[in-house]
Amino acid sequence: MRVILVTGASRGIGREIAKNLAQKGNKVIANYNISEEKAKILQEESENIDIFKADVSKREEVKKMVEYVISTYGKIDVLINNAGISENKLFTDVTDEDWQKIVDNNLYSAFCVSQEVLHNMIHNKSGCIINISSIWGIVGASCETIYAITKAGIDGMTKSLAKELGPSNIRVNSIAPGIIETDMNKNLSLKDIDDLKDEIPLQKIGKTSDISKCVDWIIDDEYTTGQVISINGGWVIT
Ligand code: NAP
Repeated sequence: MRVILVTGASRGIGREIAKNLAQKGNKVIANYNISEEKAKILQEESENIDIFKADVSKREEVKKMVEYVISTYGKIDVLINNAGISENKLFTDVTDEDWQKIVDNNLYSAFCVSQEVLHNMIHNKSGCIINISSIWGIVGASCETIYAITKAGIDGMTKSLAKELGPSNIRVNSIAPGIIETDMNKNLSLKDIDDLKDEIPLQKIGKTSDISKCVDWIIDDEYTTGQVISINGGWVIT
């Protein structure tokens, strides 16, 4: 049975990934931070889901989470760095506090959880890390510059770690979603959504299951590493 740690799994994309992987018979540790009630409901949905509260932007909490997983399940086969936040602001209005918050939650978190998990993966000479980035890290985003910087940083980490860890039989890939229906986009009006659909060749907004299907594929694959796979309905084609 694979042991899989998914960060930010109380809501949205992470929740769907956790649910889907548990349904397929994996042991899933679903991390959450604030949304405890939602995490508990998720846990009740499958005996294969365990939940763990940790703010993944804080080293000490990450250490405790990884220690818990290793002491309880003995290993971590797959890490999915999904936790993230977004903020819309003109670049000239962004404060140092905004910068720190977004960088800590989106980029430092992926760095920190990967570092803690990798001790075990390198020891086992086996592992798979999937980082959830964004199309905005690829093409840039007006009024979301710091978010885009963190997502481009994640893709840089993916490519570098793939080179460093390939000899240890550890694959590292990014999934860069386009627009997916989750709380992260709840500020968009119906008109905004219709306008976006017009810009997307497949004429629709993505579902969380579009991302979890790609996660399934990457986990089962054996020869893909260092790639940024963008699931975006054709919105961004590079
Ligand atoms: P969401 O619905 O807002 O959910 C975000 C999740 O991240 C929540 O479960 C939240 O947990 C968790 N989280 C945030 N900060 C955390 C922290 N410090 N520690 C632990 N958990 C934390 O967002 P989503 O749309 O599913 O986004 C998931 C990932 O996909 C993000 O990295 C996002 O940037 C990326 N993405 C999303 C879209 C999109 O259109 N939705 C597009 C491209 C990329 P709590 O509520 O428990 O704190």
